[in-house]
Amino acid sequence: MIHINSEFLKLRQSYLFTEIVNRTRAYEQAHPDAHVLRLGVGDVRGPLAPVVIDAMHRAVDDMATVERFHGYGLEEGPMWLRQRIIAFDYARLGISLQPEEVFISDGAGSDLGNLTDILGLHNRVAITDPVYPAYVDTNVMAGRAGVWQDDHWSDIILLPCTPENDFCPALPHVVPDLIYLCSPNNPTGTAMTFAQLKMWVDYARENHALIIFDGAYEAFIQSEDVPHSIYQIPGATECAIEVRSFSKTAGFTGVRCGYTIVPKALYGYSDKGEKVALNPLWLRRVCTKYNGTSYIAERAAEATLSDEGRRQNLDRIAEYHHNADIIRQGLQQIGMQVYGGIDSPYIWARTPDGMSSWQYFDHLLNTVQVVCTPGVGFGKQGEGFVRFSAFGLTSVAQEAMQRLKDKL
Ligand code: PLP
Repeated sequence: MIHINSEFLKLRQSYLFTEIVNRTRAYEQAHPDAHVLRLGVGDVRGPLAPVVIDAMHRAVDDMATVERFHGYGLEEGPMWLRQRIIAFDYARLGISLQPEEVFISDGAGSDLGNLTDILGLHNRVAITDPVYPAYVDTNVMAGRAGVWQDDHWSDIILLPCTPENDFCPALPHVVPDLIYLCSPNNPTGTAMTFAQLKMWVDYARENHALIIFDGAYEAFIQSEDVPHSIYQIPGATECAIEVRSFSKTAGFTGVRCGYTIVPKALYGYSDKGEKVALNPLWLRRVCTKYNGTSYIAERAAEATLSDEGRRQNLDRIAEYHHNADIIRQGLQQIGMQVYGGIDSPYIWARTPDGMSSWQYFDHLLNTVQVVCTPGVGFGKQGEGFVRFSAFGLTSVAQEAMQRLKDKL
């Protein structure tokens, strides 16, 4: 008899993106002449930067030769890429890391889910609300969430992020062992300052907790008081794993490459109470269960880690920032309360007149044919908010805001 992992049966169905697609499609079918503008999408636009395309072409040419052909590589990634990441992404921030602390991945999503393989089931998990849904679901699959009770998981400590606390969660009453933080944040578009992140690093160290820090949107940071890496906070190498991605930095959502930093100074405890380093455990997990990132994607990632690569990618990010400005200002002009959008491609807006997230979604679709993302899809605290994304074309952001001003 085959026994399944019954934890999977506990997963809550996520209707968010299917429901958005269904409602949008139904509207378009009923109004074939309508021109619907989509500001809900969290995916980047092409094309990739020229340096990346050149590097990928060269990598393909390598594969066409006997001398430069690449077969199986190190699962944790080649030394040349790990060293380049340290030199380019961390040394300039005054952070020193060893190549063995850098693990190349196929993007942040996989490692954010897989990391808990090396952590015991009885760790108490704290997760911000609203949140990128993968943190919760992967802990449900692992069996760490307990049971669903009305509107929350019994064993997950939720950390509300609201305008009242400046979207920086307050320290919880129950001490967690594992804390997920994401800055700049999806979906709220806000980012933690040095002081806010220091509060969490100090707390994690005092309580021997581990922070899993999701820095997927690091490239969008513009504010001086927002750290680019959690390791800019003293002591963070003793309590934090940082997960990064080339997806939003360089448009790699279809190329797939990211990396995870697991410092050698991180320790956990075995069932027998022995102190065990996390770095070798993660290396073991990666070498056993991960196939390694493709050579072509790794060469593409390397190309972004150069002055010219950075410049080309920052041009695209500047375009997204410009779109975010248009959306933020447009929403403010019609009297909405908006948050984020400075250090992030996302703008988080409070729905007017006490409308629910889905009521406002329908209202926008029906009156101005603009699609946003209902905030409640990201958690209980997202109710009464919607998320707008700046990843579309500037002309779309402009037209959408014009329609809102003209008709709402
Ligand atoms: N983390 C956050 C907060 C995200 O929003 C996303 C994707 O949208 C990811 C991680 C996953 O990124 P990747 O494409 O690197 O898997």
